[in-house]
Amino acid sequence: MPRAARLRPVGVPDETRVTGFVTHLESALDGTHYPAETIQTTHRDRPLWVRYDLPAVGRSVTREMLAERAPTMWRYRELLPVGDDPDVVSLGETMTPLLECPRLAGKLGLDHLWIKDESGLPTGSFKARGMAMAVTMARRLGLRRLAVPTAGNAGAALAAYAARAGLDCLVVMPKDTPMVNRYETVLFGAATFLVDGLISDCGRIVREGAVPAGWFDMSTLKEPYRLEGKKTMGLELAEQMNWRLPDVVLYPTGGGTGLIGMCKAFDELATLGWLETDTRPRMFCCQSSGCAPLVEAFAKGADYAEPARDPHTIAAGLRVPGAVGDFMILQAIRESGGCAMEADEDRLIEWMRLASRTEGISLCPEAAACVGVLQQAVAEGIVERDRRVVLFNTGAAQKYVEALEVDIPLVDARHPIDFAGPV
Ligand SMILES: *Cc1c(COP(=O)(O)O)cnc(C)c1O
Repeated sequence: MPRAARLRPVGVPDETRVTGFVTHLESALDGTHYPAETIQTTHRDRPLWVRYDLPAVGRSVTREMLAERAPTMWRYRELLPVGDDPDVVSLGETMTPLLECPRLAGKLGLDHLWIKDESGLPTGSFKARGMAMAVTMARRLGLRRLAVPTAGNAGAALAAYAARAGLDCLVVMPKDTPMVNRYETVLFGAATFLVDGLISDCGRIVREGAVPAGWFDMSTLKEPYRLEGKKTMGLELAEQMNWRLPDVVLYPTGGGTGLIGMCKAFDELATLGWLETDTRPRMFCCQSSGCAPLVEAFAKGADYAEPARDPHTIAAGLRVPGAVGDFMILQAIRESGGCAMEADEDRLIEWMRLASRTEGISLCPEAAACVGVLQQAVAEGIVERDRRVVLFNTGAAQKYVEALEVDIPLVDARHPIDFAGPV
């Protein structure tokens, strides 16, 4: 990333800008302030927001200037805690394609459907955005040993970015985490442990075992910066849609950082005056019937979610029985006029195939839950036919090989079949 001295806010010395335009961190629970120049975690076990001097951002950068920049998440650097410091930990986080999907739209009964396809990011999921940002900050703040409990993709992404930054990494995951996640984490050199339990058990092992031993807990929403990285999904979406947000966004929700981050992005863009219209997308929080604590809380009108009992789903990223940011997710959905809905666990593969076959997009089972929810929402008239709908594909299907296993016909090499007939 090139240094751009002209982007510095007027009258502010360079040295104080280790966190760019960030002014402070703020408790999502009660607004308590914390300084951003030192290591922070949570306030009363609940997340911290990163706050910016948005008027100064607005004086330093315009939408037109963005358009000239390299197509990576770092093009939004003034809205990230990096400012114009080029020292970021990067594996090439390109802007992801926003693909118009007319055939899938037709099958679902919609006029306008796009898939924002995150499957091409480093380690094959959108977790790269959060970890690129969080590892960048961890290194700047002098941390050396990073640990994470994971349902799969977060561990792989942290392992890759820690390796890139030359930092130590510890990953703790349930023993039934998808195979690719288990092995890629080891491949990237992380100390990797499997647990006979849930991600909440892994979280406890990190908190009670690793943290006292000097490891920093990189769990989602337990440090402030993964959220800022994931926020770039919302910034990118706005820019790709020419600053007119869609009517509906479907997001596969586990810990909820992506959904919360996108809503934060929309708020910041609105404050900057960069959006062409006042309408915000209705946010659909999509879960699997095998683990749907937020759907239950939303239906009950509750502010917090009860932990899911016996959570099971092939969509590993959705297997989060209790999210620390539950109240933030529920508030964000309600404020947007959206809702939380579940898709039938037993049909996830069917929806993966539907999207993959009709559009050629490598859809993960988490996103398949969004397809199922969308199908139901259109059928019930919750989403009207003419709405502009965006569905997030948060990862690549290839990461779930065991779920994709099928019998494939074996051809006899000496007596090949007749391909001219029906195959
Ligand atoms: C982690 C993950 C999710 C859930 O994301 P949150 O932002 O934590 O809700 C969805 N899909 C995939 C593929 C994931 O890895």
